[in-house]
Amino acid sequence: MKALVKQSAGRGITLTEVPEPRIRDDEVLIRVRSAGVCGTDVHIYEWDAWAAGRCKPPFVVGHEFAGDVVTVGSLVETVKVGDRVTAEGHIVDERSLFSRTGQSHVDPATRIIGVDRDGCFAEFIAMPATNVWHLDDAISYDIGGIHDPMGNAFHTALTAEIPGAVVLITGCGPIGAFAVGICKAAGAARIIATDVNPRRLELARTMGAHDAVLPEHAEAAVRAASDGYGADVVLEMSGVASAVHQAFALARPGGRVNMLGIPSRTIDVDFASEIIFKGLTVYGVVGRRMYETWHQMTRFLRSGAFDPSPVITHRLPLDAVDEAMHLIKSGEAGKIIFQL
Ligand code: ZN
Repeated sequence: MKALVKQSAGRGITLTEVPEPRIRDDEVLIRVRSAGVCGTDVHIYEWDAWAAGRCKPPFVVGHEFAGDVVTVGSLVETVKVGDRVTAEGHIVDERSLFSRTGQSHVDPATRIIGVDRDGCFAEFIAMPATNVWHLDDAISYDIGGIHDPMGNAFHTALTAEIPGAVVLITGCGPIGAFAVGICKAAGAARIIATDVNPRRLELARTMGAHDAVLPEHAEAAVRAASDGYGADVVLEMSGVASAVHQAFALARPGGRVNMLGIPSRTIDVDFASEIIFKGLTVYGVVGRRMYETWHQMTRFLRSGAFDPSPVITHRLPLDAVDEAMHLIKSGEAGKIIFQL
């Protein structure tokens, strides 16, 4: 089959032929139809320090996808041939402390498709049946193929109390843009979104932000919307040091800051003045709550109140991998998907 493979330690990802995956008795084989390209894939493509420390080539890249089930293992009872599905890409031991206490999203032993084992930038992928998530008939493969990053946004937004809240979202890449739409659908009173990129601010407006402004204008917008108190909820989606400080500064006393953006280096935080004396609650977002986030996502999509489709800006074939990586790095793209 055709697949995008990280062949060796070093820069690049190569389109090549590899054997079709073999499934275990508790797995299913899925014909991939649509696959989302992610910042994680850029790290693997560039082979930065994180990728070099984590990944062991050769492996098939990609962790966001949707497709059709074509084969099921002998022990599988919940998934049938022909089912339209996506999947949770974090594979966990169901008997670990974390799984058994509803926290499998933070299990350190998690194995991620396209990072720790073969991924989805390929014609076929093998997945444990327990990780498979069925798609409603009304949900396209393209929307199915972005459930993973959309789930990150649902996790970030819905672990805060959004109804009636003044929400500040710092960073409007694809996940920040999804979060804008989710907060709108969840009844936020006012959504203020920030980014340094005008194209991303435009996308935030399309997704329902009341104010989409440069970071230097965020304070005025937040104060105006909150009688001067500050944002009830801040969703930090950028990982940029100045945005992290701004997130703490513009959260109101007693507010909540949910952090998804991953800083590339250490940030100096004055815990006393930035967090402790303000009584902030700070929550780190990893992956998706399994499977609470998935149920929330499906029900929001069914309701029609949340439409993620404007975030998808490019549809490319697998052999356009270099172009896809370039587009993501340029900041000119929303969500890019490979169609197979
Ligand atoms: Zn991703």
